[in-house]
Amino acid sequence: MKILVAGAGGFIGGHLVHKLESVGHDVIGVDIKNIENWFIQPKKSDAIVADLRLLDYSRKYTKNVSWVFNLACDMGGMGFIENNKAKCMESVLINTHLLQGARENNVEKFFFSSSACVYASFHQNSLNIEPLKESDAYPADPEDGYGWEKLFSERMCRHFEEDYGLKTRVARYHNVYGPYGTYDGGREKVPAAACRKIIESIKSKTYEIEIWGDGKQLRSFTYIDDCIEGTLKLMNSNFHSPLNIGSSEMISIYDLYKTIIEVKGLDIKKFNFKYNLNAPQGVRGRSSNNDKCQEILNWVPSISFRKGISQTYDWILKEINS
Ligand code: NAD
Repeated sequence: MKILVAGAGGFIGGHLVHKLESVGHDVIGVDIKNIENWFIQPKKSDAIVADLRLLDYSRKYTKNVSWVFNLACDMGGMGFIENNKAKCMESVLINTHLLQGARENNVEKFFFSSSACVYASFHQNSLNIEPLKESDAYPADPEDGYGWEKLFSERMCRHFEEDYGLKTRVARYHNVYGPYGTYDGGREKVPAAACRKIIESIKSKTYEIEIWGDGKQLRSFTYIDDCIEGTLKLMNSNFHSPLNIGSSEMISIYDLYKTIIEVKGLDIKKFNFKYNLNAPQGVRGRSSNNDKCQEILNWVPSISFRKGISQTYDWILKEINS
């Protein structure tokens, strides 16, 4: 099958291209970044640099393809999305124009990468939260900027399916992490940032680590292999409403640091944690309810945080040392 992956130079897009190539698909990868900055260099696929906010490019690259995966987005971790709300919302142009191109070019199926940031904040403002189920996105009160863009684009996918018959699939990813992702520069997310901070504190022999917030915030983290597997299962399903693709293993931010230190055989007593209560922290507690995912895909993410973060740490250490 011929498949377009938008955002192929990014973390999830890069892994997806790699997987699709490995099972024999003919892939076109498009990203706004120069090819030398793509996290994973495609082996066999076409690699194209283009700004998919522009309708002409979205039209051009959705021609003669069966499936479109939209993983392109101008985004980052909490530090980025809290300070770049307008930039985050501009990604609405990417999904809108890809949907229009896909419709005009009779694409068979269209995938949109949404986020747990669409969930209403009042479900996430305490440490006694219930894992989020798909219906918790309404009444709408998503993360400002980034979450509103995702919720609007989800809705647009729904109406392109209902009004124009374009088959759309929408995943709500929960904190995806793993090798070949951003770990510095301001767009990194907490698992990669934590690995980098631990490595830097060891290298500098200060063993000092700054945690954003009081460290009690709860999250769940999805390893990239689970994310890719769930994405492909969803794309192959007949389910056209948004579906959680996220781990239900909940962990506090402090325990995230502690787990990394433990699995890497380091001595926690050496480290000195400082808490920055003024740093961006996001919601108080968030995790994925996977009942619907189990029902629809007969599968849920299963890779433990201990296993996934160990591999992520090894990759970041290698990158920093290279
Ligand atoms: P990423 O930043 O690594 O990848 C996104 C890619 O999109 C980047 O390579 C970027 O250059 C590209 N891009 C941005 N603007 C573009 C444009 N105008 N035209 C073409 N390409 C453009 O992010 P990721 O972690 O791989 O996330 C992929 C998707 O999954 C995004 O939609 C993101 O919002 C969503 N998501 C990710 C997570 C996560 O934890 N990683 C969680 C929830 C949702």
